[in-house]
Amino acid sequence: MSQIVTRFAPSPTGYLHIGSARTALFNWVYARKTGGKMLLRVEDTDRERSTQEAVEAIYDGLKWLGLDWDDEPILQFARAARHAEIANELLARGQAYKCYCTPEELAQMREEARAAGLPPRYNGYWRDRNPAEAPEGVAPVIRIKAPLSGEIVVDDHVQGKVVFKTENLDDFIILRSDGTPTYMHAVVVDDHDMGVTHIIRGDDHLTNAARQIVIYNAMGWTVPEMAHIPLIHGPDGAKLSKRHGALGVGAYRQMGYLPSALRNYLARLGWSHEDDELFSTEQMVEWFDLDGLNKGAARFDFVKLESINGHY
Ligand code: GLU
Repeated sequence: MSQIVTRFAPSPTGYLHIGSARTALFNWVYARKTGGKMLLRVEDTDRERSTQEAVEAIYDGLKWLGLDWDDEPILQFARAARHAEIANELLARGQAYKCYCTPEELAQMREEARAAGLPPRYNGYWRDRNPAEAPEGVAPVIRIKAPLSGEIVVDDHVQGKVVFKTENLDDFIILRSDGTPTYMHAVVVDDHDMGVTHIIRGDDHLTNAARQIVIYNAMGWTVPEMAHIPLIHGPDGAKLSKRHGALGVGAYRQMGYLPSALRNYLARLGWSHEDDELFSTEQMVEWFDLDGLNKGAARFDFVKLESINGHY
């Protein structure tokens, strides 16, 4: 089998969240276990929210946790021309089209969908229309042609086979009118170009996976294997949030937690090996396997973290 390539793809919009650190850990462990590579991609395409400080916080947090990555980090924004190139290739192949709808027309479409009790979706207005009819002075977006019928199946290591009806995936935008890519498109082009074989990330990206598969299929690219892990919940079962406690890796570092303890604890939040509570990083690397990732959402337990820290 060819070399396994994983990636950690954080958006640099704040501190390194412990949930993201856990995602990084699983990607790292899997790459180290298989003698593969873990690549780091900084998803800085949102220019307003991305900061250099946040980029540094990601590098620092990963280094402190001992999660080293291979090769130079990829900065996503710097690849915008490549993203546009692929969008134009899809256009040339007839797999995508230019859409000239105005914000008013789109608002009306959303309204019509709402009135019909459907989720907001683009109705394919420009899909088969002659571009010669394009209004003057409107910069188009590029939309991909989603299949009109059938299903997209995300065959996931954690979630199993998840079926999406294509009628729920509309012709979504891949390139904005200013020539910048959408998140959905940039991720696919980058994962493909970086040779990523396994995508391990939070299950908040599961529906995105279905849309991303539409792009892979349109380009005839191999879809990487996927593992969408349940997000971490707080002790009360609600999604982990600030009211539960510190969320940044840096805060735990400042509180004096040891990186090895946090690593051990984060691994346990979403992965298990028999009844083992305490394990070394070497053991984790030896025992790890994607099928050991848990399907149920783990609850953050500060008492347990404290107790694990006490053992290191
Ligand atoms: N940048 C995305 C995030 O931070 C992750 C994208 C991905 O893993 O595909 O949520």
